[in-house]
Amino acid sequence: MGQKRRTKRGSYIVEAAVIVPVFIVAVLMLIAIVPAMATCENTVFSAVDELRMESIKAPFRKNPAAVPVLLKQRVYAEHSRASAFQVRSFRYLYKTKEMEDLLSLDFRLSIDETNPFAFCSTVVFDGRITGRAFTGKLHRIPPGRSGIDEDKTVYIFPEWGKRYHGGQCKYVKANCRLVYLSQETERAYKPCKRCDASSARIGTPVFCFTASGRAYHMSDCRLVDKYYTEIAKSDAVEKGYTPCSKCGGG
Ligand SMILES: [Zn+2]
Ligand SMILES: [Zn+2]
Repeated sequence: MGQKRRTKRGSYIVEAAVIVPVFIVAVLMLIAIVPAMATCENTVFSAVDELRMESIKAPFRKNPAAVPVLLKQRVYAEHSRASAFQVRSFRYLYKTKEMEDLLSLDFRLSIDETNPFAFCSTVVFDGRITGRAFTGKLHRIPPGRSGIDEDKTVYIFPEWGKRYHGGQCKYVKANCRLVYLSQETERAYKPCKRCDASSARIGTPVFCFTASGRAYHMSDCRLVDKYYTEIAKSDAVEKGYTPCSKCGGG
């Protein structure tokens, strides 16, 4: 009986002798990994921040070199653990099928982490961030002018002719307007059942008959024929549009 108990206690000691060092190693490794993870996270934050700044500046001045240069300096200055940082590719104001003015950044961060056991000492972290530069209309007011009602909104049919129209033109009222689906559109209109418009996601081009309709439609809907878009009159004139002969351009 006494013999048995001693054996049992012995096995506890053996077990502890095996487990405790493994446990200590695991804890030490974990402690070594935490700062490396923090550096990765902070670097992602820096990259996002630089990309965000560029997306604001891009409409005013185009500079594809700004982000790679600034980000590299920032990472080295702010994250002392980063041993190497490389912008592997930076695509500037590019276009995909659905969107334009995109910015995309690929980077690689290396961290030399000397843990107590000197293995797994280099952490390599690859990241990719994609964003979109400010896309919209800049309201430029010429010096010396108030800017009030100096630029009217007119309507054009981008694929059909070179005339611009006023909002009350029959030609405009009979056709649908191209908009990019927003929550506002969803509140004002219902998705057309015929063309399964409820499957459209926010940002998708959809078509609304603003004068008469209650629904928004997809481009392949049979109700969608000619569509118009909104444009500033000065822009329309600059692009070679002339006033409609029916409505006089509004
Ligand atoms: Zn017209
Ligand atoms: Zn429809």
